[in-house]
Amino acid sequence: MLEVSDLTKKYGKNLAADHIGFTVPDGRIGILLGPNGAGKSTVIKSIAGLLRYKGTIRIQGRDAVSLEAKRRFAYVPELPYMYDALTVREHLEFITRAYGVDAAEEEVQRLLGRFELTDKQDKLGNELSKGMMQKVSICCALITKPEVILLDEPMVGLDPAAIRELKEVILERRADGCTILISTHMLEMVKELWDVTFVMDRGRIVGTYPREAVADEDLEALYFSVTGQENGKDGR
Ligand code: ATP
Repeated sequence: MLEVSDLTKKYGKNLAADHIGFTVPDGRIGILLGPNGAGKSTVIKSIAGLLRYKGTIRIQGRDAVSLEAKRRFAYVPELPYMYDALTVREHLEFITRAYGVDAAEEEVQRLLGRFELTDKQDKLGNELSKGMMQKVSICCALITKPEVILLDEPMVGLDPAAIRELKEVILERRADGCTILISTHMLEMVKELWDVTFVMDRGRIVGTYPREAVADEDLEALYFSVTGQENGKDGR
């Protein structure tokens, strides 16, 4: 379970997250949906421990800043970060050692294969395209067998095959009981995925929509209505 309560983050005078509160239950996929600048990355980075904030964040019942919590979640950043001197294969080896998880060679190869990285595994981090880096970043997150996964705009920069594969992996991990939070500004990217959608706008959560209560086709209209955006135009 992922629990965020009263999360507030300011950049100077700019209130990027304004008393944010939400819960993603065990084995569910939560979506943070909002226009550019709504504060989605700020929330995800706060959960991942990359920002100082006010409020409480609990991962699997533990304070997010604790080592016990950090062991249990994986974070896929909006912009992938690679180590220039490590190969793709070595990135996975490094991360499994750092997390102290066992990953059989067969498992590593299966994951690389799913994201079409098999023939790229001996390439160095700085020899990869942006989309390939994103795929490596996703593989690094998955190989740690996390109980909670945070993905910040994960589909941006991926080709259609990788998007399809990522969606499949996300649904498989949910079936295994993983709790997942995905940020996006593209509703169509998460249509098959969401269990609960939190719409963010100007640093606040302006709507919480559980799948049981809202049909897929109604979510778009709700999104435009609560954010004041209409047909791609900002009507505020
Ligand atoms: P996008 O969909 O464009 O990625 P977002 O919803 O993830 O947007 P954030 O990146 O969280 O939005 O930004 C929220 C607000 O905080 C914006 O007004 C942004 O300008 C501001 N902001 C984000 N990062 C910083 C920073 N490092 N320093 C100052 N202001 C920042």
